[in-house]
Amino acid sequence: MLIDLHCHTFPFSACSALEPLELVRLAADRGLDGVCLTEHDRAWDADALDALGRAAPIAVFGAAELTTNFGHVLAFGLPATAFSADAGELAAAAERHGALLYLAHPARDGLLRVTRETVEYFVSVEAANGSDSRLQNIAAAGLAKGFRLPGIGGSDAHTANEVGRAATRFTAPLRSARDLIDALRAGAYEAVQLSP
Ligand SMILES: [Zn+2]
Ligand SMILES: [Zn+2]
Repeated sequence: MLIDLHCHTFPFSACSALEPLELVRLAADRGLDGVCLTEHDRAWDADALDALGRAAPIAVFGAAELTTNFGHVLAFGLPATAFSADAGELAAAAERHGALLYLAHPARDGLLRVTRETVEYFVSVEAANGSDSRLQNIAAAGLAKGFRLPGIGGSDAHTANEVGRAATRFTAPLRSARDLIDALRAGAYEAVQLSP
């Protein structure tokens, strides 16, 4: 099952030109089985996410991309009340809520701020990012090898052109938000680059 674990829509991500329905339709056209909305520093509320999921031809999940003192962090399973710009606070909250934190596009700007101790905040990194260069993705995939879990993949789409450039391939079908968290925690997935 191919899921794009990193995409942005308007208006929740003001920098995105993609309407949510446009995103899910394009993702379906380009062969994806699902998308996970990762708006900047905010979560979709459950009802709106459900409504989009019902209207979408593919599965729709919700997470968030949080701006922190360690760069951008993709947070899965973390309630919005626990969002923070402090990665240490986020890591403590992730522990409490059974959430998972990944450093987004680590070769772009994030990983250099991580030390031997603080690297433990993150289960892994984004190893394939559709908006990063080939060289940045090679570096990120190399970094992912040092973490507890495999790296994830996502398009980081903000425009129609970028939809479907990268994703995460899961070995089992994901039917619920719980399934997504369980599959991530089990490491039962791999990052895939789908187009240059
Ligand atoms: Zn980012
Ligand atoms: Zn992003």
